[in-house]
Amino acid sequence: MRVLTAPELMGAWEAGHPHTGPGRALALLCAAFPDVAPERLARLPVGARDALLLSVREGTFGPRVVGLVSCPACGERVELAFEVADVRAAPVEPPPEALDVVHAGYAVRFRLPDSRDLASLLGLDAGRARQRLLGRCVLEVSREGEAVSVAELPGEVVLAVADAMEQADPQARVELVTACPACRHSWPPAFDIGEFFWREVETWAQRTLHEVNVLARTYGWSEERILAMSPWKRQRYLEMAAG
Ligand SMILES: [Zn+2]
Repeated sequence: MRVLTAPELMGAWEAGHPHTGPGRALALLCAAFPDVAPERLARLPVGARDALLLSVREGTFGPRVVGLVSCPACGERVELAFEVADVRAAPVEPPPEALDVVHAGYAVRFRLPDSRDLASLLGLDAGRARQRLLGRCVLEVSREGEAVSVAELPGEVVLAVADAMEQADPQARVELVTACPACRHSWPPAFDIGEFFWREVETWAQRTLHEVNVLARTYGWSEERILAMSPWKRQRYLEMAAG
């Protein structure tokens, strides 16, 4: 299992900071797999990407995931807690380059959405995002041997394509159910490992930078030297610096 060290986490935070969601997830993956070309990581199907992120997160911060979500019925803040293993889908390897669906007389050839596709959807409403995603991922459509444009696809064919995408890349969707202790409403909360892991790294980095600042001012040590220490030893020096 891949574990990000303190210098690698700090590097990922710095690299991902100027970006939004998909770019940040990618920065974490690039830090974890420095021998793989970033372009290849960006082209991983979203579910395959998330499976890697789950395993890096488990290696780095442990298997337990604890977060807060808002109850959609009453607004109560509800704790969401589970193990990485609870949301891990069976891996599909290697992810297919292209898939085919034949439905209602239409033959559709498409590829699975990747990080670049997600980045292109930022700021779009759900309807436009779906159209953009189809436009990017559908490679070829025909009906009775004649080429058809993506915009002409009937809704049921679009749904069949979406189903096939989900089956071929199951980790792209995490199935969780939680219940609100205040109003008993139960719902499937959205969980995005990229966003979640990034927020954890950000919290970690801000706390750690503060520690580096204190130790560097007290002892004159470099950031590199301080980050190379075990967290346990860093805490002992921080106690002494405070005392
Ligand atoms: Zn509630």
